[in-house]
Amino acid sequence: MLNESYCNLQLDGAHKHNTHQSWSYDGSGKFTDFHVSCCEVNRTIAFSSFGGHFTKHVMTMLLQSRAVFTLGIRMCSTHVTKGLLKDTVRPNSDLSEFREVFSKAKHIVIITGAGVSAESGVPTFRGVHEKWRKWMSQDLATPEAFSRTPSRVWEFYHYRRGLTLNKKPNAAHLAIAECEARLKKQGREVVVITQCTDDLHRRAGSKHILQIHGNLMETRCMSCGDVTVHARNPICAALKGKGAPGPDVPDANIPVDKLPRCEETDCHGLLRPNTVFFGETLDSHILTKVEKEMEVCDLCLVVGTSSIVYPAAMFGPRIASRGVPVAEFNTNPTPKSEYFTYHFQGQCGTTLPPALAPHESEVTH
Ligand SMILES: [Zn+2]
Repeated sequence: MLNESYCNLQLDGAHKHNTHQSWSYDGSGKFTDFHVSCCEVNRTIAFSSFGGHFTKHVMTMLLQSRAVFTLGIRMCSTHVTKGLLKDTVRPNSDLSEFREVFSKAKHIVIITGAGVSAESGVPTFRGVHEKWRKWMSQDLATPEAFSRTPSRVWEFYHYRRGLTLNKKPNAAHLAIAECEARLKKQGREVVVITQCTDDLHRRAGSKHILQIHGNLMETRCMSCGDVTVHARNPICAALKGKGAPGPDVPDANIPVDKLPRCEETDCHGLLRPNTVFFGETLDSHILTKVEKEMEVCDLCLVVGTSSIVYPAAMFGPRIASRGVPVAEFNTNPTPKSEYFTYHFQGQCGTTLPPALAPHESEVTH
């Protein structure tokens, strides 16, 4: 067992805190765990200087009321991989071998990311070419921006909700939903853990979904905390016709009492999108469910995610570290690919349907 620790972390991009990170490998060169702890409670930690590989990737997993992070080592930088890890076996892309494993799996976890949404045409607003007006989502989807300019943030979300409502689930969404329904009849389980905030998995028919970054179609009351699905568009009269994305479009400056308000009796609090803003911690109830799924699954698919946004990027490696087969479906190899059993390259809408189609051993009803 080889242990190492490291201290080069910044919190909130500004000041350094007393932090500690450590990781360990077993003798075969496989990672076991990666931990980050710090004195701060309930703080989101952004890696900004970790081997130059992490730029504002927000990672949070709160355990036992400390900021403790359990991550796969793959996330780690060249500092770690150079000379320390032994040669790893390249993942194979033998579909018939994967299909044998799939046919025996009883509890399948499917982790999905932006790539699945992108194939339906849903933009992520992460890149410089995906700005809304002058801003990227990192500038708008923050608690600070929402408290300063709730009207502007709501215009942005109104635009995003409208876009999502116009998109359709693609072949990957449909294959996952069909697989869940089919395997359920055989007493087998499929769970989707997704970073996507659009509603496309549910609209495709998936039932068991854990949305770790929240849901664009839900709101949460700033006063009473009530979470409600609001699929209507516009969500309130004042947002009708607003939210145009052009760089010169002026703010609508909607008065705060005309923005979406809580409909609970006597509340009338301001509603916000029920998505995780940058700088916020993820919902601990959902993370607890994710932890449980990672413990019990006997097959994992990692679909359409670049495996660089934390904590989701460590889910696949964590599962692989238990010896459970993990199959990656992505347009390109990712920093995690070599740690997975299988890698299937291509658009998930193309690669996933044949992978999840009925196996000859399945009893049809
Ligand atoms: Zn309320």
